[in-house]
Amino acid sequence: RVIKMSILSIDAQTKENKGNALAIGKEARDAKAKNPNVIDSTIGMLFDEDGKFFTFDVVEKATQSLTDKEKYAYGSTIGDASYHEALYKWIFREYYNDFKNNQHLRCIATPGGSGAICNTFSNYLNEGDKVLIPSLMWTNYIQIAKEEHLGYTTYELFNDKGCFNLDDFMNKCLELKESQNRVLVVINDPCQNPTGYSMSNAEWNNVVDVLNEVSNDGTPVILLYDMAYIDYDKRGFAESRKNIKVFERFNDSVIAILAFSGSKTLGLYGLRVGAQIAIAQTKEAADEFLTANDFSARGKWSMTSVLGQNIITKVFNQYSVEFSKELEFARKLLIDRANAFINEAKAVGLKHYPYDCGFFVTIPCDNVEEVNKKLKEKGLYIIPLKVGIRLTLSSISVEEVIKAVHIINEVLN
Ligand code: PLP
Repeated sequence: RVIKMSILSIDAQTKENKGNALAIGKEARDAKAKNPNVIDSTIGMLFDEDGKFFTFDVVEKATQSLTDKEKYAYGSTIGDASYHEALYKWIFREYYNDFKNNQHLRCIATPGGSGAICNTFSNYLNEGDKVLIPSLMWTNYIQIAKEEHLGYTTYELFNDKGCFNLDDFMNKCLELKESQNRVLVVINDPCQNPTGYSMSNAEWNNVVDVLNEVSNDGTPVILLYDMAYIDYDKRGFAESRKNIKVFERFNDSVIAILAFSGSKTLGLYGLRVGAQIAIAQTKEAADEFLTANDFSARGKWSMTSVLGQNIITKVFNQYSVEFSKELEFARKLLIDRANAFINEAKAVGLKHYPYDCGFFVTIPCDNVEEVNKKLKEKGLYIIPLKVGIRLTLSSISVEEVIKAVHIINEVLN
């Protein structure tokens, strides 16, 4: 007698890409190809006001200037030292020397911010442990956790004043400390996906105090700082970097790991390039970071696009002034759309979660599936979440933003 069983392993039998943004985005694009009036507010990529994919001129210039070897040769798993250096300068800016002199920096090239998140999940928790992620989140964190044989638990992102919920954050950290003797927590800031919330410097300082307290008996604490949208912070480069500067206050048991995304900062989404950067307080923690994550990178994807790394190195080293100006223009596109959204939403009485800046805004609602179906019937494609719907401001024009507000308001009423 033949016993019928899945050809998949037991774990793989529960793997299914349900409702992920890339699949929904494809559905929206197909619908728009048939009907140009469809509003595709799904995937987090930047488009200009004419609906054209947004590219940075200097990224194009840098790409065209690379030699064949710079584009296509094999590199090393961790990436080139010049890439690491260019990233440090871009990310840390005026604080680079302070970090270099007082902390221990290490860097590994990764396929997007996603690669940095995978590596961090796989090397800082034991099988079956839980990673701590926000209640409103980029849902791929859950998928990456499963892929790394981990569970997850969430902290409430907002308190009743619409600010970062430090109390719940601390309670959840303490619970995990108690149950698994280590804490890996993800904070996505600024321009949080999916809300657009951006934490203040005071809120970041509070986070540092909490994590120092949680780790004060030597408990390992890992802060995965998902900085995918940092360069779209409307407060500008200086303010966003001030929030990284606070990491210098961590005690020796805390390591901050930065997930940098070339997709978002440079619009290189399809090229798959980013980095995993450690700010460690001890040389030992920094060296361990490099050894384990280099191993994982080799075991998972072997190495990161050399083309992507060399474009980024060139843009940051040779064109950083022009690039900063182009980023300002990109930010302005988002600010105009956000202002249009906020004003129109206020006029019709549509509520949304606290938004400061960035690619997305989220509207709370019940019966998300039904709402999503009705929105699609009216030609509006969004990303459905558990507790609401995410509108992607980066992919639609000001005019479409206003139309979208009215469609959503109609459907919710
Ligand atoms: N983190 C957040 C919050 C995101 O929204 C995304 C992409 O949408 C990423 C990380 C990863 O992007 P990538 O792997 O393309 O750099």
